[in-house]
Amino acid sequence: MMTLVLAVWGAALAQAGPGTAPDAAALYAGDRFALTSVEEIAPGIHVMRRDPSWRLPVLANTTLIVNEHDAVLIDGGFPSHAENIVAEVRRITDKPVSAIVTTHWHGDHNMGHFVFRDAWPDAQIIAHEATRHEMVSGRMDYVPRTAGTPVDELAAPALRTLEELEASGGAPELIAYFRDAAAGMEAVRADYARWQFVPADETFAERLVLHRGERRIEILFSGPANTEGDAYVWLPQERIVITGDIVVRPTPYGFGSFTASWAGVLREINALDYAILVPGHGDIQYDESYADRLARTLDHVFEQACAAIAAGAADGPAVEAAIDWEAVESGFTGDDPVLARLFEVWFKRPISVSAFNEIEAGAPCEVRESEAGPLQ
Ligand SMILES: [Zn+2]
Repeated sequence: MMTLVLAVWGAALAQAGPGTAPDAAALYAGDRFALTSVEEIAPGIHVMRRDPSWRLPVLANTTLIVNEHDAVLIDGGFPSHAENIVAEVRRITDKPVSAIVTTHWHGDHNMGHFVFRDAWPDAQIIAHEATRHEMVSGRMDYVPRTAGTPVDELAAPALRTLEELEASGGAPELIAYFRDAAAGMEAVRADYARWQFVPADETFAERLVLHRGERRIEILFSGPANTEGDAYVWLPQERIVITGDIVVRPTPYGFGSFTASWAGVLREINALDYAILVPGHGDIQYDESYADRLARTLDHVFEQACAAIAAGAADGPAVEAAIDWEAVESGFTGDDPVLARLFEVWFKRPISVSAFNEIEAGAPCEVRESEAGPLQ
């Protein structure tokens, strides 16, 4: 069992008075592809994580399900990350991995396919049919494109932000975040350069059930959410749901997402009455409150985007400017300046563009479900 290190960050923040830097060196030290925690959340079910979840590059949570004769793996991304996952799987079990479930097409969940294929040549790689379609029709081109971009160019935006923050006396936590992001750019680029393309070789449309001895593993699709083809995994006996990036903590992602249907997918997941939810990134959840907050936030964004467009908003930034973010933001960010920045860049900005594009393309602006009450 590896040690949990995220507590260091919380403690450092709690102790840091105004104007004092938290121990960012401890937070961002070491190999950025290393696993920082491995937890057995139920007999034979292990979740491997890298904290802090927002450190760049973001790495997906990986779940290993060890069965009677084999094991099943859910998600695992960058090549170096995947190598660490393989080593950890081998520490946990000598049973072969027979299936790898990839929840969606984003590289942080599937760039390790070739590593897993080397480790377990007979394993089937399973994804929703829309995910495979995205992967084989050019969406992964960003990987070689990034690998071929000079590192100075890749690091330039982070360095510019860093300069601005230093000049304006920005929050030390934010400065530490961007310093680490810029410093890590070459490691990220080099890992992209190692990637070999291996798409899923088995797809499903609505449901695929793996029967493994006593274990039942349901791979489900309830509609577009964070991406076109978000698969999630339900273990009915253990009451564990593994959501991929349909649920991401502490701040969600909204790039090219499906605001009109995402909240409905979350409600279907919450209707499973799970005991444990493993998100695509971030802390494991033991109740429905975070997924519910996310669903109500997405309803709020979609309703307000409809109103903004009806009032004349002509693009994503105009929608973003019109939405009342105060009603939702503190539930995700608290007082943390890093999370506030990430909520803006990873959610507010892209989800506004996503909502604008969907509504322009004809997504109906009916009143959303709000039976859960107002947002806090
Ligand atoms: Zn992800």
